[in-house]
Amino acid sequence: MNKDIIERLKTGTVLGAEGYLFELERRGYVKAGAYVPEVVLDYPDALKELHREFLRSGSDVLVAFTYYAHRDKLKLIDREKDLEKLNRQAVRIAKEIAAEGEDVLVAGNICNTWLYDPDDKERSSALVRQTYDEQVRWATEEGADFILAETIEYVGEALIALEVIKSYGLPAIINFGATYAISKDGYDWIDGCRQLEAAGADAVGFNCIRGPETLLPLLARLRKAVTCPIAAVPVPYCTTPDAPAFQNLQYKGKNAFPLELEAFTCTRFEVADFARKAQKLGVNYIGLCCGASPYHIRAVAEALGRTVPASKYSPDLSQHALLGSDTVVKGHEKKFAAVIKN
Ligand SMILES: [Zn+2]
Repeated sequence: MNKDIIERLKTGTVLGAEGYLFELERRGYVKAGAYVPEVVLDYPDALKELHREFLRSGSDVLVAFTYYAHRDKLKLIDREKDLEKLNRQAVRIAKEIAAEGEDVLVAGNICNTWLYDPDDKERSSALVRQTYDEQVRWATEEGADFILAETIEYVGEALIALEVIKSYGLPAIINFGATYAISKDGYDWIDGCRQLEAAGADAVGFNCIRGPETLLPLLARLRKAVTCPIAAVPVPYCTTPDAPAFQNLQYKGKNAFPLELEAFTCTRFEVADFARKAQKLGVNYIGLCCGASPYHIRAVAEALGRTVPASKYSPDLSQHALLGSDTVVKGHEKKFAAVIKN
């Protein structure tokens, strides 16, 4: 298969697993709060294992874990000196594990900076550009196949991300995080995507924040509005029209975000259903973001018609002692009776 992401998007569906931040937090390697991917330097084997699990679950892309690995966030945890090392090592690790699969792509990853300010556009744009420039340069030098810019809430910031990625000659997928009804600088999301397409983005879309139910309507509108490939990487949480973003979900009278979201986790069947619907709509890049575990990704891959390495252990309830077919259950009871008798 081709290692050119643009060709892959044009000729089939690309599956991109994410959710590193939440999964590694659950496993005890990322601190909730700052959410900085220190695991890249501190426990590289833990990160390698998760990459491997996503790869076995059918991901076509391993996303280098540099989400929130930008200067400002590293300063916050007093590790600014580790910035370059962390960014470079993250891409190297993703490449190392990608090589265990066949034609697995490696994405460099940049995200919302929290620095962009439309009321102080010139000064803040320069800071954002600097932040993206060093991360994209390191990812390019380490051999990333393309750059995924994510969870951006300002059209202005997204356009800077695109411009920086293009200055390094790499393909760019730019995803908005649709926390609000419109972008934080006042654009309809679909209009923002149109602007990105016009500025040369190779694919545009959405990641994180919204679950399948509240992302699908946006995707239907987006598909009609742009001709370039589109991307959809929702969170596997059951968001609703009343709580369209996972930050709005309420559990037992208080915010579930970010530590009690489990209560809203989509089942494997729900994410599979999302994948089928997204593919039918014409979404070209399908993935899952924060909250996803490898079994969700396998369910998405299988919903897209694939058999992946982890499919070897996909459920077969006919072999279950209580839920299996009559024959199996009867056989089990016979065996069980024999054991009791002896
Ligand atoms: Zn996310």
